[in-house]
Amino acid sequence: MEHPLAHAVDRIDPAVLYRSDDLAELLGLARSSVNTLALSGWFPGFTWEREPNVGGRQRVWTGAALIAAADTEPPALDHSRYAPSTLWRLGCGCDSCLAWHNADSRTRRRTAADAAFPEQQRQEVLDLISAGAVATIEEAAVKAEVTRGRCTGSPAATTTSGPRSTKPPSRCASAASGAADRAATGRAAGEPHAGERTVRSGDQRPTF
Ligand SMILES: [Zn+2]
Repeated sequence: MEHPLAHAVDRIDPAVLYRSDDLAELLGLARSSVNTLALSGWFPGFTWEREPNVGGRQRVWTGAALIAAADTEPPALDHSRYAPSTLWRLGCGCDSCLAWHNADSRTRRRTAADAAFPEQQRQEVLDLISAGAVATIEEAAVKAEVTRGRCTGSPAATTTSGPRSTKPPSRCASAASGAADRAATGRAAGEPHAGERTVRSGDQRPTF
């Protein structure tokens, strides 16, 4: 495994003194993690100095010592002592860290997907499918997207989607009439919806 300092050497000045806080910043780790790693021999070549005011002592490295450490094979990581995110940031690619990373990535993707396809719209797709109103999930998604355009009161969605054989759900109908009211008072006219509207109507397939 490559030493995590290897990615930081171009930011280390050999003539400058570094302490745990500086190392933590260089590596994107907590100071406590740096100290635990130092105890395990990850950052050799330090000396001790008295901490001002506190009365304790702390490790201090020259940049040259850190650059030398960056070139070494680091000791094995005791996985019971670090959070998975720390292990991953340190560069451990063992099976268990890889599994954690994959699960973490999935969670992030799911969160992003939830934001892009919110619960209300998902429910709408499910309703369309269970009502037998559509033949495929794709068709339901297209319809739900059209309805969302109506629900958010986009004037383009109500005028370009054409004649429809199915009525929108009642909550959308009231939202749409609210949009009509806004349009009538002229407040909707100045809203910067143009780009969004173009993309959305371009994505719509004809529905019958
Ligand atoms: Zn690992």
